[in-house]
Amino acid sequence: MTALFDKYAPLQARIDMMMKIGSDALGVKFDDIISATRGRIGNREILLAGTNNYLGLTFDEDCRAAAKKAIDDHGTGTTGSRVANGTYSEHTDLEEALADHFGMPSCIVFTTGYQTNLAAISGLAGDKDVIFMDADAHACIIDGSRLTNASTIRFRHNNPEDLDKRLRRQGEIEGGNALVVIEGMYSMFGDIAPVDEFVDVTHRHGGYLFIDEAHSYGTFGPTGCGIAEEQGVLDKVDFISGTFSKSLASVGGFCASKHPEFEITRKVMRPYMFTASATPSNISAARVAVEKIKSGGHLRDNLKARAQQLHAGLSALDFDLCAEPSPVIAARRPNEGVAAMEWNWLMENGVYVNLAVPPGTPQSSSLLRISLSAAHTEQDVQTIIDTFAKMKASQGEIMSGMMSKLQ
Ligand code: PMP
Repeated sequence: MTALFDKYAPLQARIDMMMKIGSDALGVKFDDIISATRGRIGNREILLAGTNNYLGLTFDEDCRAAAKKAIDDHGTGTTGSRVANGTYSEHTDLEEALADHFGMPSCIVFTTGYQTNLAAISGLAGDKDVIFMDADAHACIIDGSRLTNASTIRFRHNNPEDLDKRLRRQGEIEGGNALVVIEGMYSMFGDIAPVDEFVDVTHRHGGYLFIDEAHSYGTFGPTGCGIAEEQGVLDKVDFISGTFSKSLASVGGFCASKHPEFEITRKVMRPYMFTASATPSNISAARVAVEKIKSGGHLRDNLKARAQQLHAGLSALDFDLCAEPSPVIAARRPNEGVAAMEWNWLMENGVYVNLAVPPGTPQSSSLLRISLSAAHTEQDVQTIIDTFAKMKASQGEIMSGMMSKLQ
């Protein structure tokens, strides 16, 4: 007989190896968060370059004031789900604001971004429907499809021709529909979907298009609606989901739709019905952030300029970057050990990025992933580039350090 946790022995061995080389990338603890771009560990100030705080709104004065006011007005928690315990005015105000921003008749807010996709995908796809999802789909899209009895077909990443082929092969779906799920900007590589082409292919086959704009809401499009707006097809997309935990600088999520009938899913989505609704403070901070996003052209301009600066700087240092300039810039590293050692070195040298390793990454890559913020200054980005340059120059020392720790 095996013990309950024996199945985790290989994972524990991997973690032990990481800890041995001094890298605790999955357990970072900040002693203080000072601003959108600075944290503190012990007496070291850390430049934050892995937070997804794309517009830097976590410390925005108006967002903070709204969160505080909501606590004073309506308390710290909702103590239950909207179905069982009622909706607060904050929830409906935010739903109306987001629906208005997208120009869509329906929007539902959820407690987290993860739950948003669980809820919306499982609420939309029934037994007879077929979900077509991108090969690099986020975990919550995969998990959402697992909550349904719909069959699932994966198509090649960012490849509308492959989707076209698979939809053609599927043919008429007896008593059901095709739900195609993609993301606007992908979280690990920062690459962008050709949403306009996906709209064409999906609708040509009579399907519905669902886009997760978790990383692109706020960061792309003339008014910040995301990649669909950037590519001029916002009005053609059937469903747009997103999270409050990135540009909106809070916690929660939303799904908007051009179909007013989407409202019926409030009565069937288990991750909406059977969990507590988001707190008044989370929702109110996000509500003010929506207004900041709508008028945030200057923030998006700064973010774009910083992305171009960082991409050019790291390319000049010969780092193998995963995509064109975008708010997420990921450098491919040769393997997990090297990436972990480098991540550790960057941290010791005052720059926090994300260590991203399989199975959470596409193509089993080991990445140093940077997410930029409109709050980063030109000097901040130069500091990131300089630190990466120093890391490259210290490669021999970093590797011999790793070998000695592994002995
Ligand atoms: N969708 C995508 C594409 C994501 O990357 C994430 C999280 N990073 C989520 C959804 C879930 O959002 P949250 O962390 O706010 O629950």
